[in-house]
Amino acid sequence: MIMNLRLKSILGNFKIEDHTLEYEDFIGRFFNMCIDEGMKYGKIVPSRAFCSDESQGFPIILITKHFGAFPFDHGLVGGIMAKGRNVAYTHHGKDLAIFQASHVGYDAETGHFGKYRRLQTADSHMSSNCGKVHSVLDWYQTEYDFARENTLLQIVDNKHYITIDNQLLEQEYDDGLFLKLDSLIQPPKEGESREPERILSTSKVFRASDELIAFLKERSFIWVEEYAKPFGRFLKPELFKFKHAIEDVDHVGHNLHEYMPWIVTSREPMLSAAEVNVQIEFDKSYRRIVKEPAYEGRNLIYIAGLNIDYSPEEGQLFSKTQFVPWACYIQHEDGTHEVIEQDALYERLLSCDSYNPHTADMSEALGQ
Ligand SMILES: [Zn+2]
Repeated sequence: MIMNLRLKSILGNFKIEDHTLEYEDFIGRFFNMCIDEGMKYGKIVPSRAFCSDESQGFPIILITKHFGAFPFDHGLVGGIMAKGRNVAYTHHGKDLAIFQASHVGYDAETGHFGKYRRLQTADSHMSSNCGKVHSVLDWYQTEYDFARENTLLQIVDNKHYITIDNQLLEQEYDDGLFLKLDSLIQPPKEGESREPERILSTSKVFRASDELIAFLKERSFIWVEEYAKPFGRFLKPELFKFKHAIEDVDHVGHNLHEYMPWIVTSREPMLSAAEVNVQIEFDKSYRRIVKEPAYEGRNLIYIAGLNIDYSPEEGQLFSKTQFVPWACYIQHEDGTHEVIEQDALYERLLSCDSYNPHTADMSEALGQ
């Protein structure tokens, strides 16, 4: 049950607390950062790789207001960068400022992530946000919920037992949650096959392994004698994995698949999924930008992060959105370049002025 360090680190890496900026404050500071790095107002064409969701409209309007140009659409559903549009984008301006973000709803009333009020629906109901991330997550969450409720633990006469649903014991199928049975069930004696202690109508009962008993003891699980108790939240990512066929075009699905055991067991799965998506997408898109000949010799800044969409109240035109910066790639005309990591990026943004003298008066600009 050795934790894969790379998998663990990606989930613990993204900081929100003390790393969040109001959207307009962020855009103003980022604009000044672009100027500090040698870009010229009026010659910058921004681009945005945002989800198609209408909740992303407010950030797009603010980018327009501060950069004096409507951002090029660089995004696919789920906050994925459309790599096929890189070359076209370079033809639209001298200096290039790319924004890329995953997004997640936040309901201030409950304090939970993943939902957002759709004021334009007939009854202004709450729904998933980001809907794409939710649609990917839903299958994994259902599989996990079934496994945690249908894998049972019991102690009888000081012997520890685990009851496993027949479907979860069947390891031959292509799609599903796979329990790491060797870690859960007591291994058979040399030369013997693994036999259940009891066979029930839809499940089988085995002696629990010493490894599992120690694992649960460390996490203060309380065994009971009276009944077989569901694993519940103690079914940790170290104890299972997923297999799932993902279509080639499902970029969010591919970004998240490997991390799903950690995402479904986290306190806020929608937030964790969005955080992972940002990190994987930056890692991939950064490399594509560096290798793209059309970007050579250009002033370019690519910033990635998380848009947190505060669920709006009746009468509010836009959601209050906040931004959590994750990482940034900066390159200059002379070929010098660097990547700025989260802590340093947040500090860098704070060191830039939030006042932008070029901020457009949108009513006036639209009235012209
Ligand atoms: Zn979305």
